[in-house]
Amino acid sequence: MADTSVYKTIFEMTNVGMAIADLSGGFIQVNKSLCDLLGYTKEELQNRTFQEISHASDLKEDLHHIEEINKGLIDTFSMEKRYFKKNGELVWVDLTVTAVRKADKKVDYYIAVIKDIDELKQAQFALRLEEEKAKLYLDVAAVMLLALDRNGKIRLINPKGCEILGYSQEELLGKDWIETVLPKRVQADVKELMQSIFSGNIEPVEYFENSVITKVGEERTIAWHNGAIRDHNGDIIGLMTSGQDITDEKQAQEELRLQKEEFETIFKASKDGIAILDLESHFLDFNDAYLKFTGFSREEMLTKSCIEMSIPEDVPRARQAVQEAIEKGYVENFEKSCIVKNGKQIAINMSLALLPDKTRLLITTKDMSAKKAYEDLLKKTIEQQEALLKIETAGFVHIKDRKFTWTNRAFEKMLGYEAGELVGKDTRILYSNDEEYESFGRESSIAFETSKTYNKEINCLRKDGKALVLMKSLTAIEGSPGEALGVFVDITQMKENEREIQKAETKFFTLFNEALNPIAVVDPIKHKILEVNPAATELYGYTNEEFKQLDISAIEMLEDQAEINKRQEAMITKGWDRFTTKHRTKEGSILDVDVSVRAIQLENKPYLYATFHDITAQKNNERQLIEVKTELEKQKIFITSLLDAQPNMMLLTDGEISSFMNKAALKYFNCRDLDEFKERYNCICYRFIKNDAYFHLGKVQEGQNWIEVLLRLPQDQHIVTIQSLKDGIVRAFNISVRKFNSDYAVNFTDISETVVKQRDLEDKTTHDKLTKAYNREYLEQNIQRILSQNETVAFAMVDIDHFKKINDTYGHDVGDKVLKDLVKVLDDFSRKEDILIRWGGEEFLLLLKVDEKTALAKVLEHIRKAIEEHKFPVANKITCSFGAVLHDPSHAWEMTFKSADIALYEAKASGRNRVVVSV
Ligand code: GH3
Ligand code: MG
Ligand code: MG
Repeated sequence: MADTSVYKTIFEMTNVGMAIADLSGGFIQVNKSLCDLLGYTKEELQNRTFQEISHASDLKEDLHHIEEINKGLIDTFSMEKRYFKKNGELVWVDLTVTAVRKADKKVDYYIAVIKDIDELKQAQFALRLEEEKAKLYLDVAAVMLLALDRNGKIRLINPKGCEILGYSQEELLGKDWIETVLPKRVQADVKELMQSIFSGNIEPVEYFENSVITKVGEERTIAWHNGAIRDHNGDIIGLMTSGQDITDEKQAQEELRLQKEEFETIFKASKDGIAILDLESHFLDFNDAYLKFTGFSREEMLTKSCIEMSIPEDVPRARQAVQEAIEKGYVENFEKSCIVKNGKQIAINMSLALLPDKTRLLITTKDMSAKKAYEDLLKKTIEQQEALLKIETAGFVHIKDRKFTWTNRAFEKMLGYEAGELVGKDTRILYSNDEEYESFGRESSIAFETSKTYNKEINCLRKDGKALVLMKSLTAIEGSPGEALGVFVDITQMKENEREIQKAETKFFTLFNEALNPIAVVDPIKHKILEVNPAATELYGYTNEEFKQLDISAIEMLEDQAEINKRQEAMITKGWDRFTTKHRTKEGSILDVDVSVRAIQLENKPYLYATFHDITAQKNNERQLIEVKTELEKQKIFITSLLDAQPNMMLLTDGEISSFMNKAALKYFNCRDLDEFKERYNCICYRFIKNDAYFHLGKVQEGQNWIEVLLRLPQDQHIVTIQSLKDGIVRAFNISVRKFNSDYAVNFTDISETVVKQRDLEDKTTHDKLTKAYNREYLEQNIQRILSQNETVAFAMVDIDHFKKINDTYGHDVGDKVLKDLVKVLDDFSRKEDILIRWGGEEFLLLLKVDEKTALAKVLEHIRKAIEEHKFPVANKITCSFGAVLHDPSHAWEMTFKSADIALYEAKASGRNRVVVSV
């Protein structure tokens, strides 16, 4: 007896639920723990069977085991199952049933031990969800995600990681990370570093870049973000890292840097004048060669414009050339003269190119003055030849004792006298002064004694006072002292020409020698170089003398006969040509050269005046630029398609102006392309809804960059809400940002599902405690925003029919449970963007985004039917009545609400369980 009471006490006092059930499943005895767990009194429970309180899905397994027991196959079984509590909620339990048999082995009764495992189940479920979420993240992440255990073995790697490394997941999991993937040269160092981290000596570096070797042996640069995985003691047991493949980015950056450096080198070192102008042709920058040829100082140059520097008659053409360069992108071989320091004029040949930013022009200039001077010189020389030919008649005279005794008519004309006028006159009248007259007398006397003929240039005056230069040739008459015959030739014009030529020559040689570009004068028939300037000797490495021995073919590398013929053709027809070719220097290096040639005719012999322009660096640069550009273009396409493939919204922005938006983002804002987005919304930040629970522009001060403000906030405040312009739904996004050159790459992860709901649930002031639906407070806080964000909103009042009866029949608890379940049904059958508010008691207000009455009636009818068909635990069936109306934006919402209430009243009055949409 004592034993029985002990058992009874244990049965009653144990904190595990216990029950004794009969063969039909009815509870004969239940203990307090079980009653507490299920919310019944002992009496209530002992009037029920386990079948009644079991969840239908578990019952099959349960009954199957009972049958096995009844057949004598087993004596006991355990299973996890769900029971309904009295209030209709489900609870997970761990059930163990043991049969107590009679002497004939038939089952007498069952003892059930019921352990509450609800919390465990919930936790397991939550964990599953987290795992699923993590898996999802791993799968979609656009970066490599990697977990290493403390032995450096790969424990996890996501698809992106496999893609970057070129291995399959199976090939990598369990492998040694360092040995499999890192370059040999860093393996030892990384191994040591990893050991230090795991032994707790140092913290993992949060960010670093290093290389990996892919399966095909390619080396890629990865930017790593590391985090430690710690056990409950805080010891590091693994590393979790995310890595972004930045190889292409790095390369492009490096190439751009090199290219920029090269440009600067060329700019500085070029012997051509190079300058950068704004579109009004003001000088922004220029190299030393440019300064040198203009003679201006840097400061002076910065105040000038290229157009202004032109000689006045060239200004309109210069203006036109600048305009053309802006429109066409370039202008080549534009020739003009400009005025440089001290008013000097210089003829230049210039090329203009519009820089890619379209706000600046690059000009290169070549000083053409030497060429001009050479042309002048040739012209003058030819003129002299012609002048000489013009001298037809000579003057003849007979002189005795320094007096004219006879002169011919040509002589008289030469000096402007009438016929016979000079006879008897002293020869003194030929001379401009006495001194010349005297010295001539002395010199001619001496000459006569020795050679009898005396030649001299004399400066004379005509009768009208004009100066003449005459070549005088006197021959003494033998045997008649003091007598001589003279021949006079007027060489005034010739002398004049000679002076001019002298001047032109000086000018030419100065310019030729000082020209910054190599220049050569070439004999096109003998293919010989006749003259070169110092710039040419410097560039090609030959001395002046060596050059003159050279055949053109010694430096020209062109072998294509067709091309050579084409050049000759150009020379003959146009008289000039311009081409690029390759030249060989004395030491054998090959140059890219831009050549301008002009044909010049002298004494019926052709000459070529050629200026060379070393463009080797420029050519290399162009080639590299093209390569870098193609690479960048490829990279851009790659990144664009990568980002477009992302389900998350992503954009590149400096905080105000976006330079890229992926497809997902454009779709969200219902825009065709980035331009349309910029035109309509400017910056995405203006679309952040001003809800203080989240980040929005109200939290950013004037002049601050919203991204920088956001980044200073803790991670959990990087959430914004934005309304989609595609479907009108407001979603919440977690923003993550990565600096990308001078821009930010901004990523919006849609977290509406999880976080927003969670936050709203936590916000008790705006939610009804019992049903967790929104409350009136919420409506009052948000109604204006809801109405302003949606063009049309419908108000629908929902009221449970004869709810009082349910309370009366089943008690208040069951009534409460019905309310809770109804909210679930309403939630399930209305759309996500609809808003459910518990207005009070068993009355709800549903705000729906519909724009039309028949659609409204249809939606509500659908919900009504769902409620009608739903089986509520205990209460079983209920129905609801609906009164609804479309909100007229010109009315106060309170008025709309009243109309909906009147419609509800109509629905009740006309028989309940129906929808009335008011007109
Ligand atoms: P009708 O079809 O005309 O709407 O009939 P009804 O009985 O549903 O309407 P009535 O307004 O007469 O009764 C509403 C009842 O709802 C009164 C109250 O007992 C019950 N009730 C209100 N709030 C709650 C609650 O939070 N829990 C429970 N269990 N009952 C509630
Ligand atoms: Mg009611
Ligand atoms: Mg009511």
